Parts: sequence; C-alpha cells; structure tokens
Amino acid sequence: MNFDRIRLNRRDLLKASATALVASGTAGVSSCSSQVKPAAMPGITGPDGRRVLPWSNWSGNQHCQPSQRLLPKKEEELLSAIKNATQPIRCVGSGHSFSPLVPTNHTLLSLARLRGVENADPQALEADVWAGTRLSQLGKELWQQGMSTINMSDIDSQAFAGALATSTHGTGKQLGSLSTQVKSLRIASAAGDIVECSAGSNSDLFHAAGNHLGALGVISKARLRTDKAYYLKEYSWMMTEEEGLERAQELRDAHRHYEMYALPHGDYMLGIAIDKIDPAAIPDVPAVESGDAYEAFRTLANLIDYLPFLRSWLVNFGAGGVEPETRYGASHEIFGNLRDIRFNEMEYTVPAEVGPQCLREILQTIKKHNIPVVFPIEARYIKGDDIWLSPFYRRDGFSISCHNFHDKDYKKYFAAIEPILWKYDGRPHWGKIHTLSAAEFRARYERFDDFRRLRAELDPQGLFLNDHLRHVLGVS
Ligand SMILES: Cc1cc2nc3c(=O)[nH]c(=O)nc-3n(C[C@H](O)[C@H](O)[C@H](O)COP(=O)(O)OP(=O)(O)OC[C@H]3O[C@@H](n4cnc5c(N)ncnc54)[C@H](O)[C@@H]3O)c2cc1C
Repeated sequence: MNFDRIRLNRRDLLKASATALVASGTAGVSSCSSQVKPAAMPGITGPDGRRVLPWSNWSGNQHCQPSQRLLPKKEEELLSAIKNATQPIRCVGSGHSFSPLVPTNHTLLSLARLRGVENADPQALEADVWAGTRLSQLGKELWQQGMSTINMSDIDSQAFAGALATSTHGTGKQLGSLSTQVKSLRIASAAGDIVECSAGSNSDLFHAAGNHLGALGVISKARLRTDKAYYLKEYSWMMTEEEGLERAQELRDAHRHYEMYALPHGDYMLGIAIDKIDPAAIPDVPAVESGDAYEAFRTLANLIDYLPFLRSWLVNFGAGGVEPETRYGASHEIFGNLRDIRFNEMEYTVPAEVGPQCLREILQTIKKHNIPVVFPIEARYIKGDDIWLSPFYRRDGFSISCHNFHDKDYKKYFAAIEPILWKYDGRPHWGKIHTLSAAEFRARYERFDDFRRLRAELDPQGLFLNDHLRHVLGVS
C-alpha cells in the first residue's frame, strides 16, 4: 500500500465535500420515478414531431421524461407559452437540486436563453440579471463592470432564478443568502402577465419570492444589489476538532466569511477564513494547484471499507497531510469552487448560537454508532432575513451539510442525523435531501400558510406545481 495516496491536501477536502447518486429516499415524491435511470429512458417524440430527451439532475438522483421542453428566447415568448399552456409547467435552472423540485411528465421550461447582465450601474451598485444566467457568468459580467456579488455559494454553476428558489447561500456572519441581495423581481404569472415586486411594492410577493420553489410563477429577471469589485484572500488550516468547535464563534466574528469542514471519525477540522484584500497587497505567488481529489479521498474511503477498525486512525493520518494554504483572487474566482466528485447531500440550518453544540452531537453520534462515513461535514454561518420560507427567516443560522459518495448508502446515515437537527430546531435546505412534509414545514415557518395562500391566488389551477411541491406545500 502506498500511504501517500491517502494523505489528503486541503483541496481534496473541499472537492470531496462537493460532489453521488441517490437511488431513492428523497423528500416526498416526484412526478417521475426516481428509480428509472435516464439511460433506460430513450426519449419520446413530442407534439411537434421532434425528439424530447429525458431530464436528470446533477447528482443523478432525480430524472423524468417531460412530454415537451420549452426554451424561450424572449420574455414575450415566455408569456405566450404560459398563456397557451395546456398542461402543467415546471421550470429547470441548472439541475443542482437534490430534492424533486424539478421533475415533471409535462412541460419542462428552461430560461437558459434568457441570460446575461443588463443596465449595470457601477455608481448605484446595481444590475439587472436575467433568470437563466449561471452564477459563473454573473460573476464575470459584473467584474467587467467593476462590480462583484456581495456573497456567493460555494459553487457557481446554478442558474440565477434556480438559486433564488431555495435561498442558496454562502457563508458570513453579516451576509445573507443570494435572495437578500435582490432589489426587485419580474415574475411571469400563471395568467401570462408580468408581475413586478420589491420591498416597497407588492411586498408580500417579494418576501415570498425570495424562496419561491418555482411555485409562484416563472422568474424572468431581477435587479441585483452588488458590491464594488473586490479581491479575496482565503486561508485554510487544520486544527483539532475541539479547537474548531470552541473557536467557531470567535472565528466567525473575526472574518468576512468563515466555514468549517469536520472529519467524521477523526480528531480534526479544517477552518476556512476568507477576507477582502487590497490587490496591491497580494504577493506574487503561483496559483494553488488542485490535487486529484477523487483519487485520494476515494482511496481513503475504500481502504476504510476493508479496514473499518482502523477508520479513525486512517482519517487522522489523512488529515495529517493537510498543510495550511492561502489563495488569492477576484471574488468570483475564490467563491466558485470546482466540484467534480458526485455526492448526495442533506443540509439543515439551526440557530447560529447552538450550531457548534449541534455539530458536536452529530460528530459524537457518528463515532458512537460507528456510522460508516468519511465525507467531511460542512458548517457555515448565514445572516437572518425576512423571506417567508427561508431557512434563515428571522434568525441567524448555522448550516450543517452531511454528504456521502454517490455509490454509498446515505439513507441510514441521514436517518441517524436528521433527528438531531430537528432537536436543535433545524430547517432543511429546500433543494437538498430531507424527509419533511407540509405539517412539519408549517410548524417551522410562521408564514407558511401565507405562502400557500399567495401561491393559490397567483396560480389557482396549479399550473406550476408537481407532485413534490403538492406534498411539501400540502396542496391536494
Ligand atoms: C455541487 C453542489 C453545490 C451546492 N452548493 C450550495 C451552496 O454552497 N449553498 C447552497 O445554499 N446550496 C448549494 N447547492 C444547492 C443549490 O444551490 C440549490 O439546490 C439551487 O436551488 C439549485 O439551482 P439550479 O439553478 O440548479 O436550480 P434547479 O435545481 O434546476 O431548480 C431549483 C428550483 O428552481 C426553480 N426554477 C428554476 N428556474 C426558475 C425560473 N426562471 N422561474 C421559476 N422557478 C425556477 C425550479 O422549478 C426548481 O423549483 C449546491 C448543489 C450542488 C449540486
């Protein structure tokens, strides 16, 4: 055995934490079977005689065979598609949700052609963003105009409106989700009209649409608040698990962005602190190269399968290879990590003040019950907001994300951890795996029935619903 192959570097940990294939067991039910893999679905012939390909999400746990796919090039085309609809419509962004938000046997609508940044105003620090714009394109186009997003998730593959659907977030004590950076929205309603909303006009709709789930209409465009273009310094280092838990709040307060990756069965934790930096202060050092994350992490996991009694020792040995590391770059380059290892993920947000305590209990439970997982657990801080179905509604949050490799069974692992997250009053990420249904969401969200009422007013026939949304929103 070449033990160098299981010595991890810091990039390995990040990549491994970002990547699998779920066979079943996601929240609720989807319109299409989660069991039939896309390869078994050759596609069908649509009403216009053209081939309609099956759809699958990023991790491969959700798939469906829509009867029609639409890709409008203009807002007017979108409106006429809605006015002429004879069957339900589901929107798709970039398919990066693990929960069955997208699957439909009917019309699948993508705004991938309605993309790009317009009317950028570097003085006012605002810009219009078309709904289909990938976050990677958003970062680059804003940068060309002398602007940056205020914060960002840890990948940048999502479509802008898809990210808003689930309160997609990064990390930072003073920084809310991407939706909190939106100033106003244009939404194509089920009646085929454009409805505009902001905090000052149509404010109920605005506060609902910040976590819209694709249930209120089709988002076509948004006005985004931005920051002046800025550079970031990212510093990551390994510390003991105990130190990481003890110092979590201190490090959160000391940095613009702070997050942790805890190693199940290990005694260590990776800290990542990110702060703005004056470009003149950036040293002339070569860019940090990524290692072969999959190989190193996968080799470690495979070895543990054969030698489970050495699990803790092997994890600690692997962690011992992690040297402190510093990266510098434009904001969007540092935020947008590469995730080339597929995984399944469950994420809950608990109140910020109990976050480390909850994480400690999860790590102890994994050790106590010898749960066979080595995938790092990611923990982040997010500022509270006023968005009705946001996991951060009226409280600052600490998100805890559990992952497992696509070909490892995640169900027993998640089932052992989910009750701990409930105990700490956790709210699930709407785009990730959970087992909650409408009654449990109602107990967690005081504006849950307001969201349902507004949705019913905007779309009484349920044009924009699928089976999963009916399940989590309690619509018969
Ligand atoms: C590798 C990976 C890393 C991730 N990292 C993070 C992270 O750092 N932080 C975080 O919070 N989440 C993260 N996520 C989750 C992800 O950000 C969310 O699930 C997000 O909602 C996915 O966006 P999408 O564009 O892929 O949308 P999809 O998954 O395609 O769709 C999501 C929802 O948006 C709706 N929708 C899409 N476009 C429109 C539109 N124009 N109008 C109306 N509804 C629309 C869909 O109908 C659906 O309900 C990650 C996921 C993966 C796979």
